[in-house]
Amino acid sequence: MILSNVESEIFCKLCLRSTKLCGALQRSHIIPRFIWMTVKDKGRYVSYSTVRGSAELGQSDWREEMLCFDCEQLISIKYESYLKEILYKNQKEKLLVKSEGCFVMGGIESNRLSVALLSILWRCLVTGVVEFDHIKLPDSFCDFIRVAVFTEGSAAAWQDVVRVRVVKIRDLSQGVRASFLWSGLLRRNDSKSAIEIVLVLGSYCVVFLTPPLIVDAEWMKYSLKPRSRLLRVKIENYTEIVELNDMVVEMLKSKAIDG
Ligand SMILES: [Zn+2]
Repeated sequence: MILSNVESEIFCKLCLRSTKLCGALQRSHIIPRFIWMTVKDKGRYVSYSTVRGSAELGQSDWREEMLCFDCEQLISIKYESYLKEILYKNQKEKLLVKSEGCFVMGGIESNRLSVALLSILWRCLVTGVVEFDHIKLPDSFCDFIRVAVFTEGSAAAWQDVVRVRVVKIRDLSQGVRASFLWSGLLRRNDSKSAIEIVLVLGSYCVVFLTPPLIVDAEWMKYSLKPRSRLLRVKIENYTEIVELNDMVVEMLKSKAIDG
């Protein structure tokens, strides 16, 4: 009888408290809800299934009973609101440079923005939602990121294990907004000694590199520096990311059907 009680105990994946202490788990979004609202068009979105190798229309959000109320609040207030403010709202007063190929913003809390993006990667890594089955990294890495998220970046030198950069997907021709979701790609960096994880979140690609080797000038230039006030974002055409082409085709088809 005691054994079955232990087996049925459930823990928050972020603070690791038992639900007996922290209350029932929330149905947490793997990808923040505000990003879902950004990408949905008439209640539907286009995503790329790495498992099936095709672009597909979807309707339901990727959610899981993962976090307690307190942790859900931490992620929402501390990280998601900031991520939304910096990347998904018009921030003309923070814009220092804008050219054809990149933009630079000033007055950024780089550590907070980085950990906000890492909190999404962490959810992708620890979720049981099938769309993320291919995103797997060692438990030690996941726990390091968990501590960074839980302690707001203060107790874990996350920059020692991962590097983060943001790429803006250039506005598309054909009247299609860059509004995609992609449950991610795990690929070897060209150096063959590191792994890149790519997430597509609306009109941005976020790329994580682990271990954080300084492999090329582009990573040096565009990755987030924890103590910096600057955010450098490269702007790339969707055609430079093969899978996004399939998404565009699928999106155009769905728009054609809708008339
Ligand atoms: Zn918790």
